[in-house]
Amino acid sequence: MTDLQLYQQLLGLTAPWAVQRVEVDPEQTEVRVYVAPAPDTRFACPECQQPCPGYDTRDPRRWRHLDSCGFITWLLAEVPRVQCPTHGVRSVAVPWAGAGSRFTQAFACFAVTVLRATQQQTQAALLLPLTEDEVAGLMARSVAAGLGRREEAAAAGTAEVLETLTLDEKQCGPGQEYLTVLGDPEGQRVWDVTAGREQEAVANLLETCLDPAQRSGVRTVALDLWAAFGSACRTVLPQARLAYDRFHAAQELNRAVDQTRREEHRRLRAEAKAPSGRKHGRSVLSDTRYLWLHAAEHLTAEECTRLKALLQEGLETAQVWQCKEAFREFFTQPDAAAGRRFLNQWIQEARTVGNPHLTAVAAQFERHQEKLIAALETGVTNSFGEYLNGRIQILRERARGFRNAAAFRVAILFHLGKLDLCPHGFP
Ligand SMILES: [Zn+2]
Repeated sequence: MTDLQLYQQLLGLTAPWAVQRVEVDPEQTEVRVYVAPAPDTRFACPECQQPCPGYDTRDPRRWRHLDSCGFITWLLAEVPRVQCPTHGVRSVAVPWAGAGSRFTQAFACFAVTVLRATQQQTQAALLLPLTEDEVAGLMARSVAAGLGRREEAAAAGTAEVLETLTLDEKQCGPGQEYLTVLGDPEGQRVWDVTAGREQEAVANLLETCLDPAQRSGVRTVALDLWAAFGSACRTVLPQARLAYDRFHAAQELNRAVDQTRREEHRRLRAEAKAPSGRKHGRSVLSDTRYLWLHAAEHLTAEECTRLKALLQEGLETAQVWQCKEAFREFFTQPDAAAGRRFLNQWIQEARTVGNPHLTAVAAQFERHQEKLIAALETGVTNSFGEYLNGRIQILRERARGFRNAAAFRVAILFHLGKLDLCPHGFP
């Protein structure tokens, strides 16, 4: 077998394309494979697939391919252009790469596998090797192609049914803009992401990433009480029930506990006598943040003992904490009527505490009572929201933040979108 035949087979090239020449460059540790079409080949317009007359041939382009025995391998070809009566002068499609890509499909698929395995752009860039910009470009193209394939399926009438959706907001980084994350709890994936969390952005997201049949099939949307989410859903998904699920309710209650703890801690320290050399005194609330915020069943025996002791101190934090814990019972109520009774009683008790943060939560729960009842009735659970939150957080930490919302969106969809990221025909 000659080297030409070898590469012809390795590349899986078929007529009219054939390997013309192979150069091995030991100094650069590179292999360059020159590929050309058979003379007088009549190509088709890449847009409409009509056979068209040739126009000219572009300067040689090169595509990164899978390495050959540790040598970085490039595929080089002069790509012909055709003149289509409808679409004008166009470069013909090449079978080994997508339009405009600098990588062969085989290399792109390998890079996707490496990125999925490392879940870390910097490491993947070292292994492949590629620059970080090239990795970012490859991820963006893979995600765009994956979303394109999903849209094609929807256009062909095989769009997936999404009965339940989740809406969440994520901050890109400290002080940075927000993203809105649309989740599919059934499929355990992120369906799409958009920059911003304003009503217009969210409505636009729902309209563009769901086709009309999918939109009318949505039964429940689990969300927090951010008003823009509710308004966007009522406009775009008028038939869907809005559910304020336990994950979001717990977040709100935890915030009230934490704010109360911080204020009470400050007060106690100011009142306590400061030991010599210190500005403030100690308070019983020092280093207790996680005791109040973690679910009691996740605490160790020692932590439970500490918490029990703290509950005897007559702290305002403890009162708010008790209301938070009591609210968990809401989601075990057998039906809507029992749920309403529980809720009304809980709201009254919460108000009796007289803590401004808790009173604000009680007022919110009262105002959004129907959304809480919807969560109870539909059984929308928190597990997916928490899972997604955790995974997105890990992505952000591994990447040490993202340059902008667009890069964050790509990473979320790449790793959590369950998209078909590899062109067909390659593993
Ligand atoms: Zn055409």
